[in-house]
Amino acid sequence: MAEIPNNNKPKKKIGFYWVYIVLIAFFIGSIVFGSTSSVKETTMTDLSKMLKEQDIEKIELINGKTAEIYLNEQGMRKYFPNDTKQTFGKTPNYTLKVSEDRLYTKVDEAQQGLSNPVEVIPIDRANFWGEIIGWLPLLLIIVFWILIMRRMSGGGSGMGGGQIFSIGKSKAQLYDQEKDNKTTFKDVAGLEEAKEEVMEIVDFLKNPGRYTRLGGKIPKGVLLVGPPGTGKTLLAKSVAGEANVPFFSISGSDFVEMFVGVGASRVRDLFKQAKEKSPCIIFIDEIDAIGRARGKNIMSGGNDERESTLNQLLTEMDGFGTNSGVIVLAATNRADILDKALMRAGRFDRQIYVELPDLNGRREIFEVHMRGLKLGTDVDKEFLAKQTPGFSGADIANVCNEAALIAARKNKENIEKQDFLDAIDRIVGGLEKKNSVITESEKKVIAYHEAGHATTSWMLEYAHPLVKVTIVPRGKALGAAWYLPDERQITTKEQMYHEMIATLGGRAAEQIIFGQISTGALNDLEKVSKQAHAMVMYYGLDETIGNVSYYDSTGQQEYSFQKPFSEKTAEKIDAEVSKLIESAYQEALRILNEHKDGLAQLAQKLIDKEVIFSDDLVAIFGERPWKHEERTFKRRNEEKEEKPEEA
Ligand code: ADP
Repeated sequence: MAEIPNNNKPKKKIGFYWVYIVLIAFFIGSIVFGSTSSVKETTMTDLSKMLKEQDIEKIELINGKTAEIYLNEQGMRKYFPNDTKQTFGKTPNYTLKVSEDRLYTKVDEAQQGLSNPVEVIPIDRANFWGEIIGWLPLLLIIVFWILIMRRMSGGGSGMGGGQIFSIGKSKAQLYDQEKDNKTTFKDVAGLEEAKEEVMEIVDFLKNPGRYTRLGGKIPKGVLLVGPPGTGKTLLAKSVAGEANVPFFSISGSDFVEMFVGVGASRVRDLFKQAKEKSPCIIFIDEIDAIGRARGKNIMSGGNDERESTLNQLLTEMDGFGTNSGVIVLAATNRADILDKALMRAGRFDRQIYVELPDLNGRREIFEVHMRGLKLGTDVDKEFLAKQTPGFSGADIANVCNEAALIAARKNKENIEKQDFLDAIDRIVGGLEKKNSVITESEKKVIAYHEAGHATTSWMLEYAHPLVKVTIVPRGKALGAAWYLPDERQITTKEQMYHEMIATLGGRAAEQIIFGQISTGALNDLEKVSKQAHAMVMYYGLDETIGNVSYYDSTGQQEYSFQKPFSEKTAEKIDAEVSKLIESAYQEALRILNEHKDGLAQLAQKLIDKEVIFSDDLVAIFGERPWKHEERTFKRRNEEKEEKPEEA
């Protein structure tokens, strides 16, 4: 998925620190102001004595609990002869915790017979800090409640989040073409057919009149279908950029929340916002999150929410007038599981397939992403495109970035070819783990295992040609063989079979050389089993089962407990699968036995050098006798050149 620039102003995150700070302030405040601990406490006896000797100016009784005693000048001289702080008359000199009645009685008692007795002045003084501390628990509960509410409505991030009240607002992000970085078709490499199709949409948005004049209707929805990272988001963005209209982007899963009815309300809100900005484009990424076929999932009952969201989407797409200028683009990599109602005419009636890039496409994507890079002279895009079959646009973007990082780590001035190759290796196999601990005997097993793959694939006509083999552990793999797969459109039974043999070559080599097999082949076995199952069950490539396919392109089978075949057939399938795998394994054994010397040489070379290339295999086994027609993908472009464009 593309990185989505956040066009909401980056909100300053207020942590919970302020809560702590306020609490601490309360605490300190209550200590400092709430108590008069700096004033000495006295006793009733002393007070009586002071009263008798007429040392007291006044007595204040605070809130009927505490007596605050102020001395007169005579008293000050007696008890505080060096009163540096000059507290005389300003602050009480003594305090005394005492009940109202006792104080009055004692004061009267002590002053009996005196000419001008001191009176007790009752004072009500609000204890501010005490009060606040009393309210603190309630305050905390309120703060806590607010925090919980914020959490529930999406952490307060993004549009519409923040308060519980805006939970039904759509979370779509709006890109305004004037403000934000503009993506245009120039940024999208390859994808010629797809571009041509979306070009039409740009035209609809730019000159709607041209189409509606004749009574035609502008399409409302376009579905972009293709594997992840092939540039669907990019394409949608570039449509908005080319047409110069606002672009709302949202992911299918953003509609779904834990509350029932929220999804539908978000859909409504999204379309309302979009209509205000019309003409514009709404882009819904991963639409399968809500667009899955309805009522098929018997497993979960909590499906209603998604269904009602989908229903709302269908209604909205029907509802907004065709000429209102809102076009919905949606992306998915699983068009097969989408609800049929979504695809009917008038909704997403156009589908654009965005495929993994071919050789030319990859070269162009390299070009796009190399624009900003400082390249060395030896970087050859053509070569890199050939090295990256099966890579998506996002992978290639990643390769370019990774290469730049690798070169920077080596303090290079330019990014060189080797940096790109390292980046490709890293992306294919994960990070090299040069210092993982491997014993000599383990290393030998790994070397023979990889050499087994290399040898079998070298000897088989249809196995993918090898590029390099390494026994440097990477990611989770202990060793790896790199192949350059043919970019086939269809695969024959023989080709699949050859691939299986090559995949089993690793285990076969272990068997031949060491007489025992190891757990190291897990990955291979998984791959082979899946392939064999696919051959038998899906592609109808097995004679016993015949031309039957149990493949379900609608994805409904995932939810059903029943198999679409009988027990008897299941047994047959199992038997055929293991027969297929077994015969491939025997074939691998046969090939390796035949080339045992070569295998040993190769393994030794691997142990010595850790990495070997196809040249090393040529040196040992000689050139492969088969020359396959090379796919160049030039044809299409040449045709274009030959035919001058008819304007
Ligand atoms: P998708 O939506 O299909 O998963 P994205 O559009 O998010 O894929 O692609 C991810 C990134 O891959 C893009 O931001 C872009 O950098 C790169 N990319 C993918 N396809 C292309 C392409 N055809 N041309 C240039 N860059 C591409």
